[in-house]
Amino acid sequence: MEKARLDKIIAAGGRYSRREVRQLIRQGRVLVDGVPARAPEDKVDPESAEILVNGERLCYRRFTWLMLHKPAGVLSATEDGRGETVLDLLAPELRRQGLFPVGRLDKDTEGLLLLTNEGGLAHDLLSPRHHVDKVYYARTDGTLDEEDSRAFAAGMTLGDGLVCQPAGLEVLSAGPAGSEVLVTLREGKFHQVKRMLAARGAPVRYLKRVKMGNLTLDPTLAPGEYRYLTETELEELR
Ligand code: URA
Repeated sequence: MEKARLDKIIAAGGRYSRREVRQLIRQGRVLVDGVPARAPEDKVDPESAEILVNGERLCYRRFTWLMLHKPAGVLSATEDGRGETVLDLLAPELRRQGLFPVGRLDKDTEGLLLLTNEGGLAHDLLSPRHHVDKVYYARTDGTLDEEDSRAFAAGMTLGDGLVCQPAGLEVLSAGPAGSEVLVTLREGKFHQVKRMLAARGAPVRYLKRVKMGNLTLDPTLAPGEYRYLTETELEELR
C-alpha cells in the first residue's frame, strides 16, 4: 500500500481526532517500528509498519465500515440541499473519509444502515445476486393474518405493476388497534415494505430495519448512534 500521513492513518481509526493525534505525537506517545514518530506529516506505509499509539498497537483498516442506527427524519444520502443526511451524524474525522450509505432507508424509516468507503463490497451486498435478506419490523393499521403471510410467500404483484419476489411476513400481534409484523425481503425496491403492506390493507405507521444478512442492529445503539463493525462482522459480510 502507498505511504500516507501518520496523523491521517491514526485518525482514520476513529478513536482519536487529528488534533489529539498531533498532541500524542508531540508527547512521544506514537512509535513507528519502535521509534518515536517525529511529525504528524511523516509518511508511513500502514500495512507494513508497526504503529503503537499510547502503547496500543494500531489495527489499521484500509476501509471503514460503520453500523448506524438511523433515526427518523434523516436522509440516507451523502449530500442533500434539503435536509440533514446520515453523514451529518458522524464525527468530523469520519465525515472526511468518503463514506456513503449501503443502500437506502426512507426518511421516516429507522434502523440498521451500514456506511462504508469500500465501494466493491458495498456494491456486492446490494446486488440481487448476493441474496442478502433484510428484516424489517413494522407497526401497521389493519389486521394482518396467515392469509397475508401466504400472499407474501407466494410473491405479490402490486396494483401499480411491481412484481415482488417471495417474501416473509411474520405476524407478531394483530388486533383492532393494528398489527406488529416482521417482513423479510431479498430485494429493495422503492418503498417496498410500505407498498406491500398497504396492498394487504395495512398501511405502515412505523418502520425499522433490524437485520441485514447476518448483521443484527446492535441493541445498545440509540437512534443516531453508530459504531465500527467488528472483525467478525466484517468477515461475515465478505
Ligand atoms: N421499505 C420501505 O418501504 N421503506 C424503507 O425505508 C425500506 C424498505
